Amino acid sequence: MRVKSLTTLGVVLVLLASCGSGGSALDSLVKRASDRNHLTIGTRFDQPGLSERTLDGRVVGFDIDVAKYVANELGVSPDEITWRETEPKSREPDISSGAVDMVVATYSITPARKQVVSFAGPYFVTGQDLLIRLNTPDITGPESLNGKKLCSVPGTTSADEVKRRYARAVELSEYPRYPACVTALLAGQVDAVTTDAPILAGYVTQNPELLKVVGQSFTVEKYGIGLRKGDVEGQNAVNAAIRKMITSGEWIKSLNANIGPSGYKLPAPPEVTETQ
Ligand code: GLU
Repeated sequence: MRVKSLTTLGVVLVLLASCGSGGSALDSLVKRASDRNHLTIGTRFDQPGLSERTLDGRVVGFDIDVAKYVANELGVSPDEITWRETEPKSREPDISSGAVDMVVATYSITPARKQVVSFAGPYFVTGQDLLIRLNTPDITGPESLNGKKLCSVPGTTSADEVKRRYARAVELSEYPRYPACVTALLAGQVDAVTTDAPILAGYVTQNPELLKVVGQSFTVEKYGIGLRKGDVEGQNAVNAAIRKMITSGEWIKSLNANIGPSGYKLPAPPEVTETQ
């Protein structure tokens, strides 16, 4: 009897170890991708050219192409990806909780974020800039923001930079998404919107007769793919995938197709340098 129950316990334990979800959120991204043949990827749905959900439900843009390329290298095809909208301030919690397997969302690599998550990359390097109405020649860069109303999104390096460096000069409004900032700019409720230049360039393509990017970048933003903290295997695999996307020509092809139309000057490919 005792032998039988021990055997039963053993069978249950083996079953528990091998069944069901196909790996926990604590497993490497590589194992989760191969066990489940599926990935949940956190991105944004409102950044034209970078990551946007179209009216017919497709997701398109450079970040989306990067995410699909990486997923494919991990054995996961586009129809096996679930796209989840991850607002800026939710990026770290969504990765840590396992709500998403990775984040590809104009996500700047920073020392503070690296306390909480790991990054692969960078896969793109850009900088923070200002979006203004065409009829505001007095805004020429961050030094000219004295007394101006600025809009950004909480949980971004852009909002942090304004608070850190220009808090006394600037009145900052924050909305959860950039399109709300762009609406406020068009309505004259704020004088400028600030975030990374290619994101702003995407909004100019929607209103070229009303808006422009100042074109004086004042930070360096290195976009990384956010992974669970300490996932070395996942980091190595994603770094390899990014390098392959660059050398294969797919990287520049996607940039030309998605960002090219905005007129944003495309940078050279970055060196992929992230390690633990
Ligand atoms: N790249 C910056 C960040 O990670 C700003 C752009 C964004 O909203 O993602 O915070």
